[in-house]
Amino acid sequence: MTAKKYIYFDHSATTPLDREVLKAMAPFWQADFGNPASLHLRGRQALEAVDIARERIAEFFNCQPGEIIFTSGATEANNLAIKGLVKNLRAQGWADPEIITSAIEHDSILEPIRELEKEGVNAVFAPVNGNGIVDPAAIRAAINERTVLVSVMYVNSETGALQPVREIGKLVRKAREKRHKLWLTRPLADREKKERPLWFHTDATQAVNFFNCGAQGNFFDLLSFSGHKIYGPKGVGVLYKNAKVGLSAIQTGGHQEGNLRSGTLNVPGIVGLGAAIRLLGQAGKMGEPSREQKKNTLSVAKLRDLLVKGVLKSIPNVILNTPLGQAAPGHAHFSFLGVEGESTLIALDLAGIGVSTGSACASGSLTASHVLLAMGIKTEVAHNSVRFTIGKLNTREEINKVLQVLPPIISRLRRMSPIKE
Ligand code: PMP
Repeated sequence: MTAKKYIYFDHSATTPLDREVLKAMAPFWQADFGNPASLHLRGRQALEAVDIARERIAEFFNCQPGEIIFTSGATEANNLAIKGLVKNLRAQGWADPEIITSAIEHDSILEPIRELEKEGVNAVFAPVNGNGIVDPAAIRAAINERTVLVSVMYVNSETGALQPVREIGKLVRKAREKRHKLWLTRPLADREKKERPLWFHTDATQAVNFFNCGAQGNFFDLLSFSGHKIYGPKGVGVLYKNAKVGLSAIQTGGHQEGNLRSGTLNVPGIVGLGAAIRLLGQAGKMGEPSREQKKNTLSVAKLRDLLVKGVLKSIPNVILNTPLGQAAPGHAHFSFLGVEGESTLIALDLAGIGVSTGSACASGSLTASHVLLAMGIKTEVAHNSVRFTIGKLNTREEINKVLQVLPPIISRLRRMSPIKE
């Protein structure tokens, strides 16, 4: 089978590089190869290209260019946001910070937090409802005088569930203002001790294609994302950090990125990231997505809805785990009862269709997805799950092909398993 004929429905794992992005990156592999830290012509040319990308990205996120830190991706951005904040606070003498997050975060949030827990940081993992959505009231209730960070993802990578991040950002801002007022009422001598910060971070990796990510309008203090989920290159990403947020580097040496992320900049990657962001247009300041984001949403949602309707109609005993009314437009996450997700994945792969059993990072492990378990889904049902994530190049014919091959695959696999139709 040629790669061309293969049907790809795993855009949450990664997206193909857009042609325009590839074109923009091309000169920076060879002709314009300079190191932006060099003072000579080649270095200055590279720096100019990085600066242009930085400005473009800052415009999209409605922040200052100096608030954009280039990283190797969302994993590093998440680690830097969490560990860098705690490191900075410890350097200032705050010994007992607390972090509030949700039970459905990506492992690049959960694992750094668990590491910090071992070092004495208190962590709260807010639960989600049956739709996999965090309740802002639970976040509000958990915030206390020790809390320094609330981190809740924008869109869940497995189910596509859209989280109320603007509401959470707003309530974090309010709690910070309340804390500040209280601090002002302290006796002057007491006030020499610095005020404990409280910031809101969101992992927007799965949201950037479709939703408004303006830092001001959404009350984001920190935000992470990766280039390869937005038709940009792999191995490059961003941490947006509000200028007021104190952060310490977790990778030191070369002093790049305002001393916050040492290492020679990935110039082709950064240029590609700038080009990928440019393709997403300029979102409105009031929370509206851009024209381009709306177009992406409309085209993938149309195909996704066709897929969902077709699957639910033609296959019995299926649970849809994506809350369609409050989700990213390209996600369709199913549990085909009685059939191991891996078996469905392999059968679809043999039929020339690429899907995932959950998050790409978790596949290969035999433990059930922590996201589905947090939603109250039983372990055996969680093991039955298959995720389709539609992208901007998918077609109606490709959906029709899935609807043609999937029902007999599920029937065949069920004949080998205890649950009968
Ligand atoms: N956060 C989320 C929500 C993701 O979906 C991913 C990628 N699966 C990451 C973080 C990590 O991105 P990367 O592997 O590009 O660092």
